[in-house]
Amino acid sequence: MTAVGSAPATPERARTRSVKDFLAAGEISYSFEFFPPKTEDGERALWQALREIEALHPSFVSVTYGAGGSTRDGTIRVTERIASETTLTPIGHLTAVNHSVAELRQVIGSYAGGGVHNVMALRGDPPGNPQGEWAAHPEGLRYSSELVELVKSLGDFCVGVAAFPDKHPRSPDFDSDADFLARKFDAGADYAITQFFFGADDYFRLVERVRARGCEAPIIPGIMPVTNVAQIERMALLSGADLPAALVSRLRAVADDPKAVREIGIEVATDLSERLLAGGAPGLHFITLNRSSATREICQAVRTSRAQPS
Ligand code: FAD
Repeated sequence: MTAVGSAPATPERARTRSVKDFLAAGEISYSFEFFPPKTEDGERALWQALREIEALHPSFVSVTYGAGGSTRDGTIRVTERIASETTLTPIGHLTAVNHSVAELRQVIGSYAGGGVHNVMALRGDPPGNPQGEWAAHPEGLRYSSELVELVKSLGDFCVGVAAFPDKHPRSPDFDSDADFLARKFDAGADYAITQFFFGADDYFRLVERVRARGCEAPIIPGIMPVTNVAQIERMALLSGADLPAALVSRLRAVADDPKAVREIGIEVATDLSERLLAGGAPGLHFITLNRSSATREICQAVRTSRAQPS
C-alpha cells in the first residue's frame, strides 16, 4: 500500500508531534476524522477503519466531541487509546456546550494525561436542535476564541479551530465570518480545519479574506465524499454547506443505485481535492463517518496523480 506521509511514525513520535509541526514541515498533510461510537459494533468498525487508515501513515486523525458534550468520555477514551496503542497522532475535539470552565479544564487535563496534546477548540451547536438558540453555560464560555485561550493557558497544546468556506450559518456575512476566524487565530489558534464544502473557489476566497486580515495560519480544507444522498442533504442543511444543484441532480438521478452514488461522490471529492492542492491548500482533512474505504480511495487517487509528472 502506498504510504501517505513520510516515514512511518513510532508510537513515541506520534504522541509528541503536534499538528503545527506537520504543517510547518511543508509536506502536504493528509488527515482523517472519526467519531466516538456508541455501540460495540460501532467500536469494532471504528478500530477497523483506524487500522486501515494507520497503514496510510496519515499526518494525524481527529475524533469529534458529540453534541452537547454527549460523548465526552468516549472522545477522551478513543483519543487516549489512539495515542497509546497506535502510531497515529490524535486530535481531541472539544466543545463549550453544556460545560462550565471547570469542566472544560477537567477534559483538557484528561487529554494531557492521556498523551493527547492536539485539541480542536469549538463552540459547538445547541444540543437537540443545532439550529436553535445558543445559550452559554452560566459558568462557561461564549465563543470558541475563549476556548482557544483556555486550552493554550493550560499547557503546551497545539490548537485547531473551525472555518467555514460557505460561512457559518449564524454569521451575518462573509466579512464578519472572516473577522471571527481571525479572532480565533489572534487568540492563539495554530491552524483551522474547514467545514466540508464543494466549491474550490469558496475555499480560496475564504483564505484570501483571512490573509487580508493579517493571519497566515494554515487552513486545511475538510473533504466529505457523498456516499448517501439523503444524508448529505441533511448534513449540508445543518452545517450551512452549499450543495451545488448540478451535483444534487446528478446524485438524484442514480439515488437508487448506491454504487453509482458512491462513484460520483468519489469522483467529485477527488476532483475537488486535486484542485485544492493545486491551488496551494496545505493538506486535506477527510471526514470518514467511521468508514474509511471511500476516503482512502480518494486519498490514494490524489497521491497517485500528484506523483505523476504533469
Ligand atoms: P465560534 O467560532 O464560537 O462561532 C460561533 C458563532 O458565533 C458563529 O456564527 C460565529 O460567526 C460567531 N462568532 C464567533 N466569534 C464571535 C465574536 N467574537 N462575536 C460575535 N460573534 C462571534 N461540533 C461538535 O459539536 N463537535 C465536534 O467535534 C465538531 N467538530 C467540528 C470540526 C470542524 C472542522 C468544523 C468545521 C466544525 C465542527 N463542529 C463540531 C461544528 C461546530 O461546533 C459548529 O459549526 C458551531 O456552530 C460553531 O463552532 P465554532 O467553533 O466555529 O464557534
